[in-house]
Amino acid sequence: IMSKLPNVTTSIFTVMSKMAAEYNAINLSQGFPNFPVDEKLTDIVARLAKENVHQYTPVTGYPPLMNQITKLLFNSYKRSVNPDIELLVTAGATQGIFTSILALIKENDEVIMLDPSFDSYESPILLCKAKPIRIALNDDYTPNWEIIEKACSIKTRMIIINNPHNPTGKILSDSDFIQLEKLLSKYPDLLVLSDEVYEYITYEEKHISAHTKSFLLDRCIMVSSFGKSFHITGWKIGYTVAPEHLMIEIKKVHQFLVFSVNSISQIALSEYLNIVDTNLLGKFYQEKRDYFQKLLQNSRFELKPCEGTYFQVASYANISNEDDVTFCKNLIINHGVAAIPISTFYSDHKDQKLIRFCFAKDDSTLESAAKKLCEI
Ligand code: GLN
Repeated sequence: IMSKLPNVTTSIFTVMSKMAAEYNAINLSQGFPNFPVDEKLTDIVARLAKENVHQYTPVTGYPPLMNQITKLLFNSYKRSVNPDIELLVTAGATQGIFTSILALIKENDEVIMLDPSFDSYESPILLCKAKPIRIALNDDYTPNWEIIEKACSIKTRMIIINNPHNPTGKILSDSDFIQLEKLLSKYPDLLVLSDEVYEYITYEEKHISAHTKSFLLDRCIMVSSFGKSFHITGWKIGYTVAPEHLMIEIKKVHQFLVFSVNSISQIALSEYLNIVDTNLLGKFYQEKRDYFQKLLQNSRFELKPCEGTYFQVASYANISNEDDVTFCKNLIINHGVAAIPISTFYSDHKDQKLIRFCFAKDDSTLESAAKKLCEI
């Protein structure tokens, strides 16, 4: 068969998690928490399981959950959305991204992605027979707006931003949004897809959400996820917000891709959102970040700044000359710790001797991993 995605291989997150399991290594590669979920949430699920919650919800989402998301958006960003028109509950952010691209991108359109970029962005673009235009971020992981602008033309249909940024933990600044606004004013058909799944995991400074920028409201698709915010990555549930003219198209694809998202998680979250405070998450992970950084203080890894997300980028240039994929494999085999090689987030596998650790782990896991990492 002629492959539609000839260059796509198994996701690096799957590869590294599988290898970590095989070698019984501490898995700081794929991003997921290893501590228990809030008991208030698991209690709701346990009670609901015996109730009448097991049939289809409406295609766009369970209405009480959509109302709660609407409230959350207002409380977090003063953003007013009409849940009937602008909101869609999705099977995770990945589905929101895939569905939006499939619905809105046509053959020969160009889509700008900023490398290092998350691995799920490119395939839906390729399946649309559109062209991913991958532009590297600057060395400090700020976008290079000059190069981005040079790459733009009337063919450019979308630019994908990820804020806070996986894998680097960088957040976009006010001046980035000024540059983005300039670019959009030059290209009236250009859309923005804003992946903000780590929106509540920020530290010294809060990120600036696309929801707060009025120039984006009629041309931006915002994607978010409950997986990161409530430590439930396996539930695969999130939501997408887009203006009516875009959401109409996104919903057309959604109804045949997933029909409706699983009922019990939607119903449980509609209750949980009433009692949970998303503002506590930043502090919770800041303590983890600081603890992990302190534990690695005397290691030979050089830690990069982390403004958001639960990922820590580290340079191993002082330790080894191996390329980052080899280094990560050997790190599992010889030292019992799994991480993600950053080159896999680049189209050209640019090797900078950088790897990513996930610190969404209980303290004893972080301690055991750091002990191993300090011995290298
Ligand atoms: N978002 C997570 C990460 O960056 C994992 C996603 C996945 O495994 N598909 O590690």
